[in-house]
Amino acid sequence: MPPLSKPSTNHYDMVVIGGGSGAMGVSRRAAAYGKKVCVIEEDGRLGGTCVNVGCVPKKLMWHAADMAEHLSEAPEYGFGDVNNKPAVPGFAWNYFAEKRDAYVRRLNGIYDRNLDKDGVEYLSGHGKLTGANEVEITMRGDDGKFTAGTHRVTGDRIVVATGGRPIIPSDDKIPGASLGVDSDGFFALREQPKRVVVVGAGYIAVELAGVFNTLGSETHLLIRHDTFLRPFDPIISETLQDHMSKTGLRVHQKTNITRVEGERGGPLTIHTDNGDPIEADCLLWAIGRRPNTDNLGLEDVGVELDQGGNIVVDKYQKTNVDSVFAIGDIQGKALLTPVAIAAGRKLSNRLYGHAELKDDHMDYTNIPTVIFSHPTSGTVGLSEPEAIEKFGKDNVKVHTSKFVSMYYGMLEHKAPSAFKMVVGPGDKVVGLHIVGLGADEMLQGFAVAVKMGATVKDFQETCAIHPTSAEEVVTMV
Ligand code: FAD
Ligand code: NDP
Repeated sequence: MPPLSKPSTNHYDMVVIGGGSGAMGVSRRAAAYGKKVCVIEEDGRLGGTCVNVGCVPKKLMWHAADMAEHLSEAPEYGFGDVNNKPAVPGFAWNYFAEKRDAYVRRLNGIYDRNLDKDGVEYLSGHGKLTGANEVEITMRGDDGKFTAGTHRVTGDRIVVATGGRPIIPSDDKIPGASLGVDSDGFFALREQPKRVVVVGAGYIAVELAGVFNTLGSETHLLIRHDTFLRPFDPIISETLQDHMSKTGLRVHQKTNITRVEGERGGPLTIHTDNGDPIEADCLLWAIGRRPNTDNLGLEDVGVELDQGGNIVVDKYQKTNVDSVFAIGDIQGKALLTPVAIAAGRKLSNRLYGHAELKDDHMDYTNIPTVIFSHPTSGTVGLSEPEAIEKFGKDNVKVHTSKFVSMYYGMLEHKAPSAFKMVVGPGDKVVGLHIVGLGADEMLQGFAVAVKMGATVKDFQETCAIHPTSAEEVVTMV
């Protein structure tokens, strides 16, 4: 359903600014409790970062890269010319990108219909707080311009769910930095760059460098320190860095860009403080994100922000202004889609739900998360260093298992599996960190156990499923 051309009323029970993951969670749940709700989205399409320029198109690119790996392995499994190992057929980047984008557009339509079905009003425009209970909406026209009129609406509750956007260093700091693209620009690429430089050391850098490398681009990953994914347990960062380097990814440690020369969209010469300049067709910045708080009126209403510009909330997602709440990336903790959705749903449960939901709130501990690397990796709970810091070295035990999945038994090339279980006081499993084939699909179930406070004995007494990689989690102790 297209967005409404104007609000149907001047007053709502809840006004939500933003139309991404968090907004969907909070608005649809509030509407399910019979509340009058509107969602204001400025991008011209619903779904936010995850659907449009995040999880969804990223995962499809990961699947394409995974397919390339399997195609290269197929002859060793007896397919095709088993003696001559034919080259993997070329990847039609543009064909795939168009198809991927069409899938995203289908999802946009599903989001529109879901809001409509649930009775949530969708308003296309920019939302700005003009009071503790008031939002000004600058409507967006069909031409994408914000000239379709202004309306002020009030809400008993205002929920800010405006997410964030990628950071690119300024040209003042690094001359030519703006010749690079960010993760949004990655999804706009219409052809596969032959040579790529990716800068950054977090999820996005590792995932997108992994996609480029696996699809056959000459890929350089520039990191400021010795390892990437530093906040994760060392078994993840070390195993991945070692393996991805062996598969052709060129990791430049302790390397910072000093200057970029070239033309937009053309070949670039990338100067660094460590080694010769690198020639590339694409420079991708993946150095973090910042919150979307521009022109949001937060300062005028007195909503407290932290030093990074994130909205400060309590455990109930409430800001220092009683009627204003913030969920998802904008509150700066655990920038993940399921977290934004759950925090939103729980907020509406607490505000409008039955008596037993009056304390419902998002628990930010033991959040499982996966990095779509090659191979995939995942983590839940405390890393070994975090557990030692929390409980003391003498109270932490660690079990590890390193092996090669049976899948690679038929292949010359091997990818590692490396698992670590971190055990705290009372023999409780306080962290699980896994790298290897299938890690992405494996973690969810084990996360339930960790969240429930399972002990090593609980894991041991769970019968293994053979032959799988996952069985190692219950047999490694
Ligand atoms: P968003 O989804 O960003 O939605 C905010 C919306 O608010 C946007 O649509 C924006 O246009 C709108 N908006 C902003 N300001 C205004 C305003 N003033 N008025 C009206 N509208 C406004 N997470 C995972 O869990 N798994 C993954 O695999 C994963 N992969 C990712 C890959 C990439 C490349 C990126 C960038 C992120 C990824 N994430 C992933 C993170 C995930 O996308 C975010 O955590 C999630 O989208 C946050 O949801 P949100 O509702 O807080 O914000
Ligand atoms: P992250 O915050 O995860 O990582 C960015 C990293 O880049 C930093 O940790 C830092 O690592 C490095 N960095 C920062 N500044 C610079 C700089 N100036 N030059 C070089 N390196 C720098 O951000 P991302 O953008 O990767 O992702 C944002 C968030 O999106 C993630 O935190 C995650 O929550 C979410 N996301 C989730 C995914 C998933 O669930 N699979 C996938 C993608 C994103 P160091 O200090 O080591 O240099």
